[in-house]
Amino acid sequence: MLLKLYQAGQLVLRKTAKPLTKQQLATKRTQEIIDYMIATLRDAPGVGLAAPQVGESLRIIIIEDKSSCHKKVDPKLLREQGRKTIPLLVLINPVLKVQGNQTNAYFEGCLSVEGYAGVVARAQTVTLTAWDRHGNAVSYEAHGWFARILQHEIDHLQGTLYTDKMLPASFMTVKNQAVLYGKALESKLRKTFAK
Ligand code: ZN
Repeated sequence: MLLKLYQAGQLVLRKTAKPLTKQQLATKRTQEIIDYMIATLRDAPGVGLAAPQVGESLRIIIIEDKSSCHKKVDPKLLREQGRKTIPLLVLINPVLKVQGNQTNAYFEGCLSVEGYAGVVARAQTVTLTAWDRHGNAVSYEAHGWFARILQHEIDHLQGTLYTDKMLPASFMTVKNQAVLYGKALESKLRKTFAK
């Protein structure tokens, strides 16, 4: 089943999402929400989805970055971003820690801010602990694009959208991003949109 993608303006996107207990996670309802989130992400298509985006104020995020999502991205940009495929991850009650103070700045979009994109500076490296969908503890160290997706999705659980953090002058339609900045590397983005 595909779920409705809530758009900016709907208050569920601005609430702090609730953690799940292991009991809640094991329920049929929660497991169904996870399955429907996966179907919805793949249908969109997107690389990450947080439960508030489908109207559920719960600390669940899913991530998947398939090579088919990379086809429209300039290869030089992909390399600079450190973007590689990520297998499907379901993360429950994720806790993220920024490592070091290195950042990178690139365009990102959001399935809840449909049709737009903006440049956001994000930490280059993060570590994360969470449960998988069965309640087993998992941990990751993520760099580059993987770290960016994690930061974006976990922001959703705090009621934060990328538009709160972007370089304001970089906000534009996806169409203009593709036409005007489709091949722009980080140095150009920083120079163009710095305050
Ligand atoms: Zn988003």
